[in-house]
Amino acid sequence: MSERYFDADVRDGAETFARTKHGILIGGEWRDAVSARVFETYNPATKSLLGVIPEAGAEDVELAVDAASRAFNEIWSKLPPSERQRLLWRLGDAVEAHADELAVLETLDNGKPVREARVIDIRNAIETLRYCAGWATKLTGETVPVSFPGEWHSFTVRQPFPVVGLIVPWNAPIMMAIAKLAPALAAGCCAILKPAELTSLTALRIGQLTQEVGFPPGVINILTGAGRGVGQAIVDHPGIEKISFTGSGAVGQQIISSAARTMKKVTLELGGKSAVVIMQDADLDKAIPSAARGIFGNAGQICNAGSRIYAHRSVYDRVLQGVADFAEKLVVGNGLLPSTQMGPLISQAQLERVCQYVALGRTDGASVVIGGNAEDETGYFMRPTVVAQTRQNMRIVQEEIFGPVVCVQRFDDNNALDDLAMLANATEYGLGAVLWTRDLSSAHRLANRMRAGTIRINGGGLDPALPFGGMKKSGWGRESGREGVEAFTETKSVIVAL
Ligand code: NAD
Repeated sequence: MSERYFDADVRDGAETFARTKHGILIGGEWRDAVSARVFETYNPATKSLLGVIPEAGAEDVELAVDAASRAFNEIWSKLPPSERQRLLWRLGDAVEAHADELAVLETLDNGKPVREARVIDIRNAIETLRYCAGWATKLTGETVPVSFPGEWHSFTVRQPFPVVGLIVPWNAPIMMAIAKLAPALAAGCCAILKPAELTSLTALRIGQLTQEVGFPPGVINILTGAGRGVGQAIVDHPGIEKISFTGSGAVGQQIISSAARTMKKVTLELGGKSAVVIMQDADLDKAIPSAARGIFGNAGQICNAGSRIYAHRSVYDRVLQGVADFAEKLVVGNGLLPSTQMGPLISQAQLERVCQYVALGRTDGASVVIGGNAEDETGYFMRPTVVAQTRQNMRIVQEEIFGPVVCVQRFDDNNALDDLAMLANATEYGLGAVLWTRDLSSAHRLANRMRAGTIRINGGGLDPALPFGGMKKSGWGRESGREGVEAFTETKSVIVAL
């Protein structure tokens, strides 16, 4: 982020946008939901009304599928790939030009510190758009020798699903929307995007930017509203051949069973309970703050948050104390204030859920070293929380909390890599894991044994070039990288008798 924070007029602009009359985007037009129903959206840091959003329903999905199919058949599938590339690149430039405004809008709607929104979410969105722009011209099939008698030319081509449904959660609204839109558009699909009902605003602003940079009408449609209403209608619609979903495991499972009726292809990015393993020889000056940021960033509302720390007994006390000190000093508050390091949780329900997990941990015999309580009732604020004396079978260790709560456990033998991997792998999730050690051999051997989609050794972040996704109950398929773009295509084999 640039050194300056943001100008007052940027905040005014974002608030004015939030208050304007919003529409849903179908076929290039902003319109009311057919039912004319609306719902309210609130700022989680102040509980104040931010704006009023259309509540789309099944009738709107019908219209959007129609618009997207027409756009695919008449325009999008006829454009050269270089044109898709150019449009995606231009959208990246537009997001960059409006980065401060989008970051403030995200903070108003989601609560995360504006610096975090700018440096992590918006930057990742820009990088993803540019990365995916490049793929538009590079998706190829291959020639395949066949063994029938005679002379043949046979090859494969990659073709897009004409219309795809993209359903995203509230924890990183703009980043998740772009993580799906960019590869879908690069692959050549037309899209129907549904933001989470708690955070619709940046998706709507992105919709305006797609129009400004020249995406043809109907290529990108945006429907706001409830998961059980418009979300379910997207999943059920036979004209949508692929769903890419990020969200909770429960909804993911529901989508799998609903999609069975229409045999839709489905990609699922679900929850996690990621382990952070800190070995005896780890560089603690780096490992401790990184582990703390890994759970308190975005107030722990991150799918691959490192919510379980396993520290070797020789470093356990320092790790526990270090993470607790970090938590104690963390400035919790309204994300628009420059001093804020951790914003509120997204809602009252989320705050209650997180507090209940802490209470459950206490009942099960864990000890809360620091935090554990809500604070400052102006918003949904929670103190960063460190829990010790947990056992592997406690629910607080096994289940995704999606809040700023970390369990710190000790392990005894640095060399028992199989046991250590078993400890780290012992949840139903498999999204991420982090290892801290200076021993290259242990690092690789342990990484090999981890059942997680992304392993970070001594640091690292997200990059649009690296496939991201979960093993076990953390999901189906991968986003990002070549695989993430190809997930929006199907392979067709063509055989020509010569
Ligand atoms: P959620 O599953 O409640 O909602 C996600 C989205 O699905 C929202 O847009 C919602 O409206 C929609 N939805 C809800 N019910 C639906 C239905 N029946 N049909 C279609 N759509 C429906 O999840 P959430 O509470 O918004 O997000 C938190 C969850 O998301 C956490 O479990 C977190 O781990 C997960 N998440 C995963 C990743 C990842 O990449 N793996 C990233 C971020 C969040």
